[in-house]
Amino acid sequence: MSQAQTVFQGWVLTTDGIAPHQVTVRDGTITAIGAIDELADPRDDIITLADDEILLPGLVDTHVHVNEPGRTEWEGFATATAAAAAGGVTTILDMPLNSIPPTTSVEALQIKRVAADGQAAVNVGFWAGAVPDSLGQLAALHAAGVFGFKCFLLDSGVPEFPPLSADQLREAMAEIAAFDGLLIVHAEDPEVVEAHRRAHTVHYREFMNSRPPEAEIAAVGTVIAAARATGCRAHIVHLSSAEALPALAAARSDGVRLTVETCPHYLTLQAEDIADGQTQFKCCPPVRDAANRDRLWQGLADGVIDFVVSDHSPSTIELKRLDEGDFGAAWGGISSLQLGLSLIWTEARQRGYSLPQVINWMAGRPAQVVGVPDKGAIAIGQAADFAVFAPDESFTVDAAALHHRNAVTPYHGRTLIGTVRATYLEGRRVVLDGSPLGSLLTRAAA
Ligand SMILES: [Zn+2]
Repeated sequence: MSQAQTVFQGWVLTTDGIAPHQVTVRDGTITAIGAIDELADPRDDIITLADDEILLPGLVDTHVHVNEPGRTEWEGFATATAAAAAGGVTTILDMPLNSIPPTTSVEALQIKRVAADGQAAVNVGFWAGAVPDSLGQLAALHAAGVFGFKCFLLDSGVPEFPPLSADQLREAMAEIAAFDGLLIVHAEDPEVVEAHRRAHTVHYREFMNSRPPEAEIAAVGTVIAAARATGCRAHIVHLSSAEALPALAAARSDGVRLTVETCPHYLTLQAEDIADGQTQFKCCPPVRDAANRDRLWQGLADGVIDFVVSDHSPSTIELKRLDEGDFGAAWGGISSLQLGLSLIWTEARQRGYSLPQVINWMAGRPAQVVGVPDKGAIAIGQAADFAVFAPDESFTVDAAALHHRNAVTPYHGRTLIGTVRATYLEGRRVVLDGSPLGSLLTRAAA
């Protein structure tokens, strides 16, 4: 007697595009994709999508700051993964800073895993930190299953996660190259930022100009030089300035092992629309002007930017300093985990990009780059992690209705197109007040 399976029927986005299909799932894995069979085995659990829905691979968001333990009041695993699930994100990778301890040792990684265990509504993997004190010990973290290492070249915003100097960056890359790992870098140059520093301002333009494109260009140059010298795989997180794209494209065509991400805020917001005092829009590097935004979209279309992830970086409402509107003092970080797909789809369709392109940027490509080989696509052998998406249905963002912990987001009040109606993890529907279905991921052995 054959075992019962779950069968999804309807419009499906596979690697061949969007078409009517039947997707068969057994033991959490996709086992068949074929024509819709109206005579399906009656023992099967059949899930029929509505005509206005498309089955998508669950999104893979490799840039999420969860902050638990230590700063759980900023964001915790239960709330972050609930927001992810509600937004169709089925895998997140947690950043190594803002929690206490930061994930800079095998012991700290274990503390993170214990904190996440039993709370994860979606799959959670971990980045580790490359800080001055963790240099020389990165191989042990790699062996413990982290997906790679994050470093800063300037003040990270929290004292327990100090930056690397340019020499230490090269040291870290040499160490990581020895086991063919991945280093991801917050690319703003400390000297350029120090030279433009504004301790306090309510004016958005002054804040933006305090972290100028030159800071990103200089830091990207530092990363390229170190990657070229060491052969290490390097990845630029949250690229804001399109002025860095030519150097990145040139280095890649020279064979430097480099990838790049940007975020929904750089692709959907623009400085022209940010009023003074609106610190919910503060992030570092900052959102720049409309012309820059157009060039970032072009960078995505050209493939110089590989993918789009949230950089969901929340804090408490108090730390956003919304009352005084001081961009210098406010926490720099934007909360958007639940909204990424709708934000990017709303903008992409206006610009003439297709849903398969968007999903490649938000699921397929990030999974490939960071090494989550069984996720990010609907194909035989892949995990049955899905988002059911209604691409023509619009909604208005209400910050208080989002699942992340603190009800702040720069997108409050915006009308977006495309809603996530259901999320599945290994073929099972995610129910937010049910028992969490997420797994804690370790990097697959090469
Ligand atoms: Zn971040």
